[in-house]
Amino acid sequence: MNAVELVKKAGVVGAGGAGFPTHVKLAAKADTVLANGAECEPLLFSDQSVMLGRAAEIVDGLKTVMKAVGAERGIICVKEKNKEAVKALEKHLTKNISLFGLGNFYPAGDEQIMVYEATGRIVPEAGIPLNVGVVVQNVATLANIARAQNGEAVTSRIVTIGGEVKNPGVHAVPVGTPVADAIARCGGPLIENCKLLLNGPMMGRLGDPQKDVVTKTTSGIFLLPAQHPLVMRLSRPLPVDIRISRGACEQCRYCTDFCPRYLQGHALQPHKIMRVINEQREPEAETVTNSFLCCECGVCDLFACPIMLSPRRIFREFKKSLGARGVRFPQQKKEYAADIHRDYRRVPKDKLLRRLDVARYEMEPVFHDAPWEVDAVNIPMQMHLGAPATPVVKTGEKVKRGQLIAEIPAGKMGANVHASIGGTVTAVNGLIRIER
Ligand code: SF4
Ligand code: SF4
Repeated sequence: MNAVELVKKAGVVGAGGAGFPTHVKLAAKADTVLANGAECEPLLFSDQSVMLGRAAEIVDGLKTVMKAVGAERGIICVKEKNKEAVKALEKHLTKNISLFGLGNFYPAGDEQIMVYEATGRIVPEAGIPLNVGVVVQNVATLANIARAQNGEAVTSRIVTIGGEVKNPGVHAVPVGTPVADAIARCGGPLIENCKLLLNGPMMGRLGDPQKDVVTKTTSGIFLLPAQHPLVMRLSRPLPVDIRISRGACEQCRYCTDFCPRYLQGHALQPHKIMRVINEQREPEAETVTNSFLCCECGVCDLFACPIMLSPRRIFREFKKSLGARGVRFPQQKKEYAADIHRDYRRVPKDKLLRRLDVARYEMEPVFHDAPWEVDAVNIPMQMHLGAPATPVVKTGEKVKRGQLIAEIPAGKMGANVHASIGGTVTAVNGLIRIER
């Protein structure tokens, strides 16, 4: 079995984002591979922990990807301020694998921003790094790729557990572990009346500890006070957002001036979509299709806008309705140039933490690399982009940790799913429950 088949067999998906099946990405050809160790999302220390604890595996995984896509060079992108991670990685560099030091800004980990920072190339509008000869892989994904070469399937996820929990830390959590169990293992809530925030304040979402489970793409579990401004902001229903936007948007343009994609030379101008909402008129086609250029980083609503309006949410709704109608971005522009103001309009991370009112939850990572022994897991069939996996086990069957329990449907894009603990399958109904 070749390296890419091993990755497919092990169920590796992009750990840093939406869970794109990694074996599909490795079928491409590129001259450069970037290892994404930026971890720019506030409060997360998961990738930093992986870089400290699994540096050799990251470099091994990077070599595997470079070979698969035919790349001459690999660049590990890590923030200069993360000196320990830099030190850990430096020991494993080779003549065609180097380090690139990123500044401490948000969103340094956005694929397109990283490609520009490390290579000077601009990914075209609605394009992907491959369009400019680059493949980007998150560092945790690279460690999983290295393990896949030894036949090890993805059964756990490195997760930062913090906020208002008694014992914050970074843990290897079996996939399918209920979030409520993960919080309990960290000592439970510090205060009463908390809300769950998954994956970070900028690109994450509010969740339900009784329903949500850890998946292959869960990077963070945080408890915040129910009255925290971020919780209030994320709980605001869309119709309320739209109503407020109509009366309040002053067309100051800060959302556009700070938008990382606009500063990258793309045509996205969030203040224009707000103008459409303001004036309650039919939007012109260009303003609507430009929704596809939004990466939903949250800079416009959670940092730039003085009154916390959300062009991001409006773009998200437009994208959904355009996608449902089969509309695609009409890519026309050929030449790109970054805005001359780009470098000094980058959002400093420290300022962002204060703006979000979460600076007090930043912590020094304490990494516990051994996977937890949990009593039961509920493993979803879709933790990746593409088709849900098809179960290959039945209720009552005994399974071992790492055993295949659901596979990619024939002819579809997807990812295999494996038992994250050993035990008995007690339910197969959209998810697979295993009890020890
Ligand atoms: S920053 Fe806020 S107020 Fe200013 S144009 Fe954008 S949405 Fe409107
Ligand atoms: S979320 Fe806002 S700032 Fe980020 S890319 Fe979209 S429009 Fe630009």
